[in-house]
Order: sequence, then structure tokens, then C-alpha cells
Amino acid sequence: MDHKTLQTGSSLPAGVAAFNLTGRIALITGSTSGIGFALARGLAHAGAHVVLNGRDMEKLAVAVERLSTEGGRVTGMPFDVTEAASVNAAVRRIEEDVGPIEILVNNAGIQRRSPLEQFSEEDWHALIRTNLDSVFLVGQTVARAMIERGHGKIINICSVQSELGRPGIAPYTATKGAVKMLTKGMAIDWGKYGIQANGLGPGYFKTELTAPLVRDQVFTDWLVNRTPSRRWGDVEDLVGAAVFLSSPASDFVNGHILYVDGGVTATL
Ligand code: NDP
Repeated sequence: MDHKTLQTGSSLPAGVAAFNLTGRIALITGSTSGIGFALARGLAHAGAHVVLNGRDMEKLAVAVERLSTEGGRVTGMPFDVTEAASVNAAVRRIEEDVGPIEILVNNAGIQRRSPLEQFSEEDWHALIRTNLDSVFLVGQTVARAMIERGHGKIINICSVQSELGRPGIAPYTATKGAVKMLTKGMAIDWGKYGIQANGLGPGYFKTELTAPLVRDQVFTDWLVNRTPSRRWGDVEDLVGAAVFLSSPASDFVNGHILYVDGGVTATL
């Protein structure tokens, strides 16, 4: 297309205008740091009213303050994504005090590292509860309200680790494999109600969760060599995909896992 023919002020093609999230309410679990915070910031800048979540009240207050200072419309809602009663109460309060949740990002997650033969039962259950049970609990609770309204967007944070095993994190990879299939199940069961459920699958990003890997030069060398884009991901790299999956631009994208990984999954 000849760019000189584009008129400023002319109406935008539907696919472009659709990226605007103004007035939409988004709940992002685990959004006080790392990937969740970056996605909250991105969705807030795209116009959404973002409900931030985490368990640590101090971290939550800092995150809310930071985004408010940038002009974002944000609300903090502390709750533990593994506790059904807390999830129910929080979702009810958001719907009453902030408004209908139209976008849900199931992001809260943890990592535990140990050779499988030494993996503790306690860590196994912590991973399953935080990374998998939470996607069911928060997803089902929010989806019930979305079903009544006949529309909604659910984005589950998956991982390249559901495709690519690595030593010492088998239970984590198992949770992410399950989240991938739960995402497809949500799309299949809830698509008829106007809900799109998709996965966003990060590659390797520098956050608190990956801090031990960031400090390990041998790992970084392996990673850079393994990744076609030849670098670690920057959490900002995930924002465009999250805005797309949150917006009407993705209204016919359902049950898809969008990997943002510098090409790692392309090499499998
Ligand atoms: P961080 O450790 O930086 O952030 C995790 C967030 O989750 C924090 O805000 C934490 O807040 C919150 N959280 C943890 N447990 C709970 C809970 N029970 N209830 C509510 N909030 C909770 O991790 P990342 O940003 O790296 O990870 C975010 C997601 O991305 C995870 O699902 C992870 O598996 C996934 N991912 C990360 C990759 C990476 O390279 N970093 C790669 C692929 C996927 P608080 O402690 O206050 O509760």
C-alpha cells in the first residue's frame, strides 16, 4: 500500500480499531511483578481498567501506585488464587465495585526446582494448586458471569515448558501442559457463550521466577544458542500479544496457544 494515500482522521479499519480496550475491565492474577505487572501496564495503556492481584499487600500497593502515577485506571484486589472462598469473594467484589470482568488473565504462577526423585510432595501440591487449580477456580468463577453476559476473553499464561522438557522442573512442566489443555477445553465448552479462551506461552523472561537461571551463565549461553532470536525475552515483548488476545481483534481466535518465545517452539 502507498502510505501517502492514508488519511489521518479517516475511520479506522475494524481490525485496527478493535485493539482499543477503553472502558473494558481486566482482572490479571499475580500482577504485582514480572510478566503480570507488564501485562497490567500494557492493558492499562491500551485503555482498560485493570484489577491488579497478588497476596503481598505491600507489593500490591506499590504496583497500583506505579500504574496510577502513569495515568492508568487500576484497582488492587488482594487474594490467594488457590483459595476457592477468597476467589469467589474477590470476583463478586470486583463485579460489584468495579464492574463486569470482560478480560481475565490467569497469570499467577510459581516455580519449584529439584530432581524429580527428590521432589517433595509439598512442592508438588504447591505447584498444582497455584499453577493449575487456580486457572480452573478463577476461570470458572469469572466465566460463569461472562456466560450470563454472553461475552468475555480469557487468557491463560502457558509456557514453552509444556513443549520442551528441562531437567529439574518436571512438575512445573506438567502443570503448564495441563493449563494448555484446560485452555482448549475452556474454548470448546464456552465458545458458544461468546467467550474466547486462549493461551499466551512465554519463552524465557527475566523475572523473580527465573532469577536462579538469570544468574547462571551456562544457562544463558544454552538459552541464547537455543533461541532463534538469540536473547532472553523482555516482559514488554508479551504486551502486544496480550492486547491482541484481550481485544475484539481476536474475536475468532479461540483455543489457540500463542507462543511469544523468540522462535524456541519453531525449532521443536
Ligand atoms: P513472578 O514470580 O515475577 O510473579 C508471580 C506473581 O504471581 C506475583 O505477582 C505473585 O505475587 C503472584 N502469585 C504467586 N502465587 C500467588 C497466589 N497463590 N495467589 C495470588 N498471586 C500469586 O513470576 P513471572 O512473572 O515470571 O511468572 C508469571 C507467569 O508466567 C507464571 O504463570 C509463570 O509460570 C509464567 N511463565 C513465566 C516465564 C518466565 O520466563 N518468567 C516463562 C513461561 C511462563 P505474590 O507473591 O504477592 O502473591
